[in-house]
Amino acid sequence: MSDGERRVQVAIVGSGPAGLTAALYAARGQLRPLVISGVPAGGQLLITTDVENYPGFPDGIQGPELVDLMRRQAAKFGAEYIDDNVTRVDFGQRPFTLWTGSNGIVHADTVILATGASARWLGLPSEDRLKNHGVSACATCDGFFFKGKELVVVGGGDSAMEEALFLTNFATHVTIIHRKGDLRASQVMQHRARNHPKISFSFDTVVEEILGTEKVEGVRLKHLPTGASSVLPVGGVFVAIGHDPATAVFRGAVDLNAEGYVKVREHTRTSVEGVFAAGDAHDHRYRQAVTAAGMGCMAAMDAERWLSEQ
Ligand code: NDP
Repeated sequence: MSDGERRVQVAIVGSGPAGLTAALYAARGQLRPLVISGVPAGGQLLITTDVENYPGFPDGIQGPELVDLMRRQAAKFGAEYIDDNVTRVDFGQRPFTLWTGSNGIVHADTVILATGASARWLGLPSEDRLKNHGVSACATCDGFFFKGKELVVVGGGDSAMEEALFLTNFATHVTIIHRKGDLRASQVMQHRARNHPKISFSFDTVVEEILGTEKVEGVRLKHLPTGASSVLPVGGVFVAIGHDPATAVFRGAVDLNAEGYVKVREHTRTSVEGVFAAGDAHDHRYRQAVTAAGMGCMAAMDAERWLSEQ
């Protein structure tokens, strides 16, 4: 093996709750995992302020602090980190090979893919400014903060319907803003949303600007067929226009579904024996820090078992 190359038993790609929990379990299993953490390291929790639904923190915890604690906990048992991106992989022969941006080549007996996914955003400067101040992409995470408020959900797919229905538990009213005249969501979800007394729809409409300085105070909308502009006073905006899994680098190396999520069977096994996946890189249903952490644990246990069988 030449300079700039190293061999490890377990390489973990990604350092959100899935990757770091996999690292903790693999490290405690004496496998000295190497985490190629991605840049910036830490995943979606890095852009999350108050996390109130991660068990064990009754007073809540800031997302970056939670990541830091997980990282230190895994390091304590021997996990190592490379703060770099994986730029290319070869899972065609063992040991598997992963190229990093500027930290050389890693050969690994087993690999855990935990690169996560990111929410799509509208791309408005006002949206960026007010993220965590009334703009969110996760009703399950943040809905509780919006008790008694009027809210907007943007999107026309199942996520938008689901988010809107969930938010009715807290909000006085939810308006779903959709850029087209017909919804993409499944009939059953549409039916539920359309028949909910707290939900109404603005079709053929886009959000032009989210209003407010310190926190969300409203949205400026544009009705596309007429060009008419209007202001809707609301206390929160939930963007539910889909997610993008960060799996492009694995395309061709493991099977992905049409949306780019890693296909798994038996919970964590990918199409390649010895390569496992955990968290939002394959899970588009739950998308929670705690579920990602649970899957990271499962992937590490599966990798450990697979290694001992070899
Ligand atoms: P989808 O891709 O299905 O829908 C995204 C929606 O957002 C579309 O209506 C799209 O509009 C709209 N959109 C996209 N970009 C923009 C933009 N820039 N501005 C405004 N609107 C935009 O994503 P989902 O997250 O809803 O669903 C993903 C998958 O997960 C689907 O297969 C879905 O069925 C599944 N799912 C199932 C659930 C359930 O059954 N309970 C719950 C949640 C998700 P347009 O229609 O014009 O393209």
